[in-house]
Amino acid sequence: MNKAIIPLIIGNWKMNGEIKQLGEIDSLNSMLNNMNNNNCHTVICPPTTLLISATQLNENSKIAFGGQDCHIEQSGAHTGDISAEILKDAGAQYVIVGHSERRSDHGENDELVQEKANAAFRADITPIICIGESENERKQGRALKVVLEQLDKSIPTDIKDIIVAYEPVWAIGTGLVPSINDINEMHDAIRAALVEKFGVNGEKTPILYGGSMKPNNAKEILELSNVNGGLVGGASLKASDFIQIIKACQ
Ligand code: PEP
Repeated sequence: MNKAIIPLIIGNWKMNGEIKQLGEIDSLNSMLNNMNNNNCHTVICPPTTLLISATQLNENSKIAFGGQDCHIEQSGAHTGDISAEILKDAGAQYVIVGHSERRSDHGENDELVQEKANAAFRADITPIICIGESENERKQGRALKVVLEQLDKSIPTDIKDIIVAYEPVWAIGTGLVPSINDINEMHDAIRAALVEKFGVNGEKTPILYGGSMKPNNAKEILELSNVNGGLVGGASLKASDFIQIIKACQ
């Protein structure tokens, strides 16, 4: 891990989390307070219904919060959607955009993801922009090409403050993880593309790995020089698992 970039471990709770799940944030807080040296930023993206309670209960804690998606508009007639401004109003500092489950469940494409990232800028919150190849694309040897194309089209033309999350679709929620060499190759390629496009700003952009990151594999992944943290689904739901990944990040 390149120490010039503050590492981030971000929990994506997806569509999991009733009110009682706030207790896990409480437990995580106590565990973080008991850590002597923590060099890593911790973020949780709970379901929107928990966002206000989570941010209010943890106002002075070491945990920041984010949304899982946003609409491109600020407000208006978009039933069931949520804007980046409303997320910000609820205490979010981050928002995930372009998660593969949004891309597959809701047909979101790179152009829309880019607009969502721009909506996050407008609301002054940081977009976590997800990219990643499918199993077939990996098998056909097209992973690098596909991911770099997604990166190019999904990130705004002026990157300001963004986080990129490389999440191979076939690794999400499956227990499968690419080889360390493949993760390394992909993160190096994403870094090179960011630097080519944005110069020094591209050097500072955090690139997270996501896809079945667990306490038992986090350390090896997080040690790679262009892996600046993790986007964690299943293993973020229990404080006892999540804290181990945060500890692996030191
Ligand atoms: C995710 O949903 O972003 C994710 C990485 O999930 P999991 O860790 O469960 O694979």
